[in-house]
Amino acid sequence: MTDRPAAAQGAFAALGAQVAVITDPANRRWLTGFTGSSGLVILRDGVAELITDGRYTIQAQAEVRPGVRVTTDSRRTAGGLGEHLAGHSGPVAVEADHLTVAQMADLERDLSLISWVTTRGVLANLRAVKDSDELAAIRQAFAVADGAFGELLPEVQPGARELDLALSLEGAIRRHEGCGLGFESIVVSGPRCALPHGQPSGRQLAVGDLVTIDWGATVVGYTSDCTRTLAVGQLQEPGRRIYQVVKAAMEAAIAAARPQTLGKDVHAAARAVIEAAGYGANFVHGTGHGLGLEIHEAPALGARSEDRLQVGMVVTFEPGIYIEGYGGVRIEQTGIITEGPVEILSGLPTELQIC
Ligand code: ZN
Ligand code: ZN
Repeated sequence: MTDRPAAAQGAFAALGAQVAVITDPANRRWLTGFTGSSGLVILRDGVAELITDGRYTIQAQAEVRPGVRVTTDSRRTAGGLGEHLAGHSGPVAVEADHLTVAQMADLERDLSLISWVTTRGVLANLRAVKDSDELAAIRQAFAVADGAFGELLPEVQPGARELDLALSLEGAIRRHEGCGLGFESIVVSGPRCALPHGQPSGRQLAVGDLVTIDWGATVVGYTSDCTRTLAVGQLQEPGRRIYQVVKAAMEAAIAAARPQTLGKDVHAAARAVIEAAGYGANFVHGTGHGLGLEIHEAPALGARSEDRLQVGMVVTFEPGIYIEGYGGVRIEQTGIITEGPVEILSGLPTELQIC
């Protein structure tokens, strides 16, 4: 088991802080194992101390990783934090990505002896590389998500409503004990496929429609992320052509994703395929993102991303083409960066399926 507090401590020490206060919920969970909704973590001397309130005392003791100390304190004030930091007057790191302006002002007013070091993305960078326990959870999440999609497929027929397909998919995920949804499922059909993040509506599928489904399951907090675009009954042009262009772009991105490659270069590989086919203006988002405890994590695979891929990162590859008034196609694969080819996590085919 990776010593996460020690790794985090080292990263904050490199920024000049021997103590850090962690308030971001996903970072709190990653450091301590605690899944509750309230609490913060003080990191010092390589030890993580979880401070939560009385509602979570029993749960926290049961959940925390070895070596994590649990303290119950219901005060949510800067003054309360001051007692836990008593005797410490050196620099203390806080998470600028999560702390509000008001919370920061309270800290500076009530704990004026401490010099606060505002940091960005310190734990996000550590979390980007997954350990074996995390990879096992993510693999399991994909197995659940794949199985749920298999259960859904017979329902993808003319007359089915987007909303009902989303419900069926989510029910199939939740029937697995301990599993939840990674995010709100996207089920869009026909012209609504032009909405990259469209929510399921009461629209009924018709013959000739494209249907884009983007869904995720969670296992012990870790999410999967997968998109498939299907056709109902038959598919005319330009649907067939854009499907093949998007698939080729996704494959180009996967082939480009090797250790040390920059996120922007993976994106460029996908973008080049789509531009060459004349659809550059219709590819309106980045190529992919990391995932883990959150659906969107480091690294980013977008036009400006300087994030460098490393072995053990888990990233998505999801180019799309969206045509207003017609529809669109997105296909999303997720894989683990290895020394060799990307290890793809979903077992579902990416060839065009006509239901
Ligand atoms: Zn997705
Ligand atoms: Zn995604």
